[in-house]
Amino acid sequence: MNRKLYGKNIYEISRPGRVGYYLGGNGCEDVLSSMPAGLMRGEAPVLPEVDEPAVVRHYTNMSTNNFGVDTGFYPLGSCTMKYNPKINDEIASMPGFTQLHPLQPADTVQGALKAYYDLQTMLSEIGGMAEFTLNPYAGAHGELTGLMVIRRYHESRGDMNRTKVIVPDSAHGTNPASAAVAGLTVVEVGSLPDGTVDVEALRPLLDETVAAVMMTNPNTVGIFEHNIPAISGMVHECGALLYYDGANLNPMLGVARPGDMGFDVMHINLHKTFSTPHGGGGPGSGPVGVRAGLEEFLPNPRVVKRTVDDEDIYALDYGVEKPSMTLGRISSWLGNFTVELRALAYILSLGRDGLRMAGPLATLNANYIKESLRDVYKLPIDRVCKHEFVFDGLADKSTGVTTLHVAKRLLDHGFHAPTIYFPLLFHESLMIEPTETESKETLDEFIAAMREIAREAAETPDVVKEAPHLTPVRKPDDTAAALNPVVTFI
Ligand SMILES: *Cc1c(COP(=O)(O)O)cnc(C)c1O
Repeated sequence: MNRKLYGKNIYEISRPGRVGYYLGGNGCEDVLSSMPAGLMRGEAPVLPEVDEPAVVRHYTNMSTNNFGVDTGFYPLGSCTMKYNPKINDEIASMPGFTQLHPLQPADTVQGALKAYYDLQTMLSEIGGMAEFTLNPYAGAHGELTGLMVIRRYHESRGDMNRTKVIVPDSAHGTNPASAAVAGLTVVEVGSLPDGTVDVEALRPLLDETVAAVMMTNPNTVGIFEHNIPAISGMVHECGALLYYDGANLNPMLGVARPGDMGFDVMHINLHKTFSTPHGGGGPGSGPVGVRAGLEEFLPNPRVVKRTVDDEDIYALDYGVEKPSMTLGRISSWLGNFTVELRALAYILSLGRDGLRMAGPLATLNANYIKESLRDVYKLPIDRVCKHEFVFDGLADKSTGVTTLHVAKRLLDHGFHAPTIYFPLLFHESLMIEPTETESKETLDEFIAAMREIAREAAETPDVVKEAPHLTPVRKPDDTAAALNPVVTFI
């Protein structure tokens, strides 16, 4: 129900025969009369009959019932959307890009191919890799692609027994899932109390059956993995490859490069770090980079550049010359092209110096919140964090107020909840990532709200437990919603 339509839903204000549009004389009748009878519907759809302002208000009101990054602070750890400049949406909507047909001959889409090529070159520079493919549609899809590249690499050397992938217990859930989809067996390695991977536990797992070790750095608890050089040495010594999950690359941009740390294959989430707004499953893009020597295993088509008489010519390489090596297609065309355009616009507009500011600012903001709240929320890993960090719920657990309650109560204060109950390392994980673009005033308001909730938890815990009180929909029953979803409006 939409409260702003005077407490009624749009069907209740419907009156027979009322219309809010005029379509006279537009030729529709001719089209309808030439339509085969079998394709015509028997009865008119049951739609509300309302005036135009009611329709506009209905949709506009609905759009503000949801929480979004354009309506408030969104400190969702790990999967955060960072900075999404609106100008990039406009650039990605330019008809010269959106009206291309994917089957157009390459000589008619040189500009689009140049955009693809330039972005993959810039990502290679940022990641310290030899080449990137932009074809995968999301982070998880990038992981799958990267692991298939790794399998191809081992197979090309006749090394057929490498069927295991080692994944830290702090890893994002997509890491083990992608390894399983790639047909590999997942082996978990534990973390130390300081949040980093346990190198001594990793050592005995490394043998000639390991295809790859997947790492995230900074890891999903926001801690920099300082043992990467040692881990890289061990992994390569046993013949395996080192995979870098760069879904959230903002703390590293221009500061450090996975390629220089010894990573062989990596992916980046353009929809988190490089400015595509996303939610509810898309749109995404998960480019995959490889170090020198692995390029030929990348999926096709690859965009290649030739220079003829000082002119750059871009073409698509389908890998037909070395069919045994290539992975073939991983996606229908060249990936999610408009997401790629936003990333290119983002990189070009910020430039090297702008990109370099993201990491220090994201790190400063995260540490500022962490230090401002650590007396009232439990800080299980007490170290300088990078772009995000994890609390293990409230410091005082005696009130029965849980992380879920805190998250719901934050909605009453106008803030989106942080990521909750992930990572699985702690019972009451509350993972906060403020991002690089939030002002000190916003951070201070958030800190004040979190402190207020901690005070309420001690003094009036039921107010927190019954939250949210002010949202259009209060507390849905998640289990009932999953078992008995109501997916129609009436
Ligand atoms: C979001 C995320 C992924 C998966 O990316 P999707 O685009 O959601 O598939 C993988 N790893 C980490 C660390 C992430 O934050």
